[in-house]
Amino acid sequence: MRTEALLRLAGAVRGSVVSAADAAYDESRRVWNGTIDKHPELIVSCVDTADVVEAIRYARTHDLGVSVRSGGHHVAGSAVIDAGLVIDLGGLREVSVDGGTARVHASGGALIGDVDRATQEHGLAVPLGLVSETGVAGLTLAGGYGWMRRKHGLSCDNVLAAEVVTADGQVLTVSPQEHPDLFWALRGGGWDLGVVTALDYQAHPVGPDVHLAFLTFGVAEAHQVLANLTELVRGAPRGFAPLAVFWTFPEADVFPEELWGQPFLGVAGPYVGAVAEGERVCAALRDLGTVLTDLSGVVPWVEAQQFFDEDYPRGRRYYWKSSHLASLEPEAVTALTALAASRPSPLTSLDVWINGGAIADVPDADSPVGNRSAPYMVGIEANWDDPAQDRANIEWARAASAVLEPFSSPGAYLNFDDLGDPETFRRAHGDSYERLAGVKQAYDPTNLFRSRTGPVG
Ligand SMILES: Cc1cc2nc3c(=O)[nH]c(=O)nc-3n(C[C@H](O)[C@H](O)[C@H](O)COP(=O)(O)OP(=O)(O)OC[C@H]3O[C@@H](n4cnc5c(N)ncnc54)[C@H](O)[C@@H]3O)c2cc1C
Repeated sequence: MRTEALLRLAGAVRGSVVSAADAAYDESRRVWNGTIDKHPELIVSCVDTADVVEAIRYARTHDLGVSVRSGGHHVAGSAVIDAGLVIDLGGLREVSVDGGTARVHASGGALIGDVDRATQEHGLAVPLGLVSETGVAGLTLAGGYGWMRRKHGLSCDNVLAAEVVTADGQVLTVSPQEHPDLFWALRGGGWDLGVVTALDYQAHPVGPDVHLAFLTFGVAEAHQVLANLTELVRGAPRGFAPLAVFWTFPEADVFPEELWGQPFLGVAGPYVGAVAEGERVCAALRDLGTVLTDLSGVVPWVEAQQFFDEDYPRGRRYYWKSSHLASLEPEAVTALTALAASRPSPLTSLDVWINGGAIADVPDADSPVGNRSAPYMVGIEANWDDPAQDRANIEWARAASAVLEPFSSPGAYLNFDDLGDPETFRRAHGDSYERLAGVKQAYDPTNLFRSRTGPVG
């Protein structure tokens, strides 16, 4: 039975309100990660800012905690809150671009693919992540690492302004001039401060075509390949920001059948710059070691942005962590190689992000993103399909994190974390943690927004 208040809410919003009484409830509470099984009290699908204001008013009146869902991609399922109210921004996906100033206005529920499509109409791109179905808001508010990171910084470094609905229902324009404390906080520490209904970004010229590198090598050559690769990247223009991935050849026709099921170390990434320059820089990748396969070529930027899409289907089971490495010394590579060999699932990968460049140019105090100077980040991605394998995969990822600890600097990346340990937030924000806590207290003193809890005990 719906209460009068709930009926009033349903009548007040242009979007929809779903509770456990509705047939749509089970589908509405699902997120991308198939291990997440949370039971919110209500899901309010918003189609405009006024809907968000109504949802917040209802949550305050009924003392419900609030989470925000944009792309629903976070592995911890933090877009959904048990026994609370989910503000679903999936109905707010408009993106507009001012080609003259390269300023992009993205609604709070826009996905990376939405932004890429709109910006490429103008020969532009915003630095975002590597899979096109990820929400730009969740990604940006906690950092945002992508192919443009070494040239143009993290996604959050490219935010110019935001529209935010605060816990008291006010709609604020947030920029360096207006509410500068909240603007500072949103650029990397932005979850649970309010509902970000729009983000304005600075875009940059890219494409329409780019050179995309994707070569694979035997894991036995990992020391040589990674040493050569890191040296190559350090000497190359900042448009070169590849990923080195320990993975397993899938049963896909693009690979020779004799390699199916074999482990590999792949080097992948588009060159952010002219195609000819990309071809020249990436030609050196063939000398990193003995090439097993080379699928490099020229592709549209939008396609490069979808390179990993089909490897991450909705509903698969995922558990991720990450480590910031101070160096890729031989002992660290030996550890990575051993971890790669012990992966319980062939879908699981260890991703080495080579950072530096524009990421490290930003002074630590300018944003709540910690660990900017760490030259490498390893994404520990346990991916599997069989629920019976949950424990084995989760334990592997946790053990991998512990094994990499001696080589790591004391940071964390919230977008690649199970969020189960509250200390993770302190590690992620480093010296900015107390200042961020002050902004939270100022804008959400009753802790209305409380999505930051992990799913796995
Ligand atoms: C397949 C895949 C690929 C990925 N690739 C990358 C990558 O290349 N680089 C990278 O850096 N990260 C990557 N990530 C991690 C990704 O950045 C995070 O999962 C991110 O939080 C997802 O954003 P979302 O909007 O989809 O998240 P959601 O799950 O919807 O939300 C995540 C968190 O952000 C908060 N939030 C979301 N939207 C808003 C909003 N509008 N206002 C206020 N709070 C909000 C939510 O409350 C929640 O706590 C990837 C994740 C996946 C699943």
